[in-house]
Amino acid sequence: NCTVKLAGNDAMQYDLKTATVSASCPMITIGLTHTGKMPVTAMGHNAVISQRVLYQAIANDGLKAGAAANYVPKNDARVIAATSLVGGGQSTKTTFPGSRLKAGGDYAFFCSFPGHAALMRGKLVVVK
Ligand code: ZN
Repeated sequence: NCTVKLAGNDAMQYDLKTATVSASCPMITIGLTHTGKMPVTAMGHNAVISQRVLYQAIANDGLKAGAAANYVPKNDARVIAATSLVGGGQSTKTTFPGSRLKAGGDYAFFCSFPGHAALMRGKLVVVK
């Protein structure tokens, strides 16, 4: 499984709590569709992939990086992948090599928009 399709809504929720990808994929695609109507400045969503233990620290640093950086710290090795930030009705995606993940590792996907990671967070299961 080399593709994850996520949706985010105006209630600050993803449609998935768990997604599964394979570390053997040459490239993994994370797609995100904002199914709500609110603008990106009020209810922006992205999808950031990291080790689960690091998500809160990345979200905190993303907050400091600010809106111009899509609330993702720049050139940060802890960030395995991150989509752009989208508002209602918009879609985005990002791709990264499956080799950046290890099968059986403990990974998360989350939204780094301020205050969203508490609710907008799921488990990324990585298989061989
Ligand atoms: Zn969000």
